[in-house]
Amino acid sequence: MGPVRSANERLSGLEPYDPRYLPAEVMLSANESPFDIAPGTRERVEARLRELALNRYPDPLANGLRDAIAASSGLERGNVLVGNGGDELLFNVFLAYGGPGRTFIDLPPTFSVYAYNAHLTGTGKVDIPRLGDFSVDEDAVAARLSRGDIDLVVLTSPNNPTGNLIPEAGCRRLLEASDALVLLDEAYVEFAGDSLVPLLAEYDNLLILRTFSKAFSLAGVRVGYVLGSKGVIDEFTKVRQPYSVDAVSQVIASCVLEDGDTVVRERVAGTVARREELFGRLQGMEGVEVWPSAANFLLIRVTDARGVWQRLYDEHSVLVRDFSSSAGLADCLRVTVGTEEENAAFLAGLEAVLAARGF
Ligand SMILES: *Cc1c(COP(=O)(O)O)cnc(C)c1O
Repeated sequence: MGPVRSANERLSGLEPYDPRYLPAEVMLSANESPFDIAPGTRERVEARLRELALNRYPDPLANGLRDAIAASSGLERGNVLVGNGGDELLFNVFLAYGGPGRTFIDLPPTFSVYAYNAHLTGTGKVDIPRLGDFSVDEDAVAARLSRGDIDLVVLTSPNNPTGNLIPEAGCRRLLEASDALVLLDEAYVEFAGDSLVPLLAEYDNLLILRTFSKAFSLAGVRVGYVLGSKGVIDEFTKVRQPYSVDAVSQVIASCVLEDGDTVVRERVAGTVARREELFGRLQGMEGVEVWPSAANFLLIRVTDARGVWQRLYDEHSVLVRDFSSSAGLADCLRVTVGTEEENAAFLAGLEAVLAARGF
């Protein structure tokens, strides 16, 4: 075999994104819904899929789904773009608004995919670390934006993995500080209450990311979308893959949307109630620090988090997410709010692991 020349130099030393998704009896590592879509919706999905012509390309822009999303958000088709999960759109935003010679502000600790995409696309990155309570350092971000050379900033609300919100006033302040595109990642907003979608009427530089993966129980299907001003959405249509949202996914997401949100709303309310219950239990445990959360997960700190993670997995078959090697998250683990049984299994496992260590 002959030699092969090296890949793009940006890839050297880069570790592929690894969600560390291992098989376990209790899966609390990926912030999925523990429930399948409603049984009636699943039946309608199956009926519609039987009729679907698989030999034909899908509607390239998923216009039917765009219209349904637009209607449910009080917007128009031109304000919506659907992607292969929110993750594809998070890449597209760096293709369209990042790139060599352009700069984005990252607010760590936050979703690591933003920094990864910045690296891949050769986008410059300015880190403005969050404050001690994980809130955004609004003064520092506003001051940096006002210099006028920032192209993109990503706000995450609720933030992953810390669970806190950015207040509306803070979001407005940053939108007004410059003309930079502000991507507001609302992947978990259903668990928090009010979305900041109404601000789209006031700010052309606001783009909001939403997903079907979390509250809508469709992580396996890969559908997310962005909402924004028509000019920004038009730029996204230039960088996206032509058929990124397959026909099957378009049908499934449309059915979930058409069936209305009664079931989704009930499940979100249940998750929020179980989150508060879990929060209370963790707060009462010796050797555990827990932060309040507006999402479907909680961030905790325990001594030797890496060892605790391993023993939870090995001895209790409970999979949570280890963030202990991320900057600003020493000894932190993130646990998804599961069913009552899953939460109980996690708590029992954690108690046993901590007791075995002497507290
Ligand atoms: C889960 C998540 C997304 C989107 O996930 P997809 O499954 O690709 O839609 C986006 N942002 C954050 C912060 C997330 O946690």
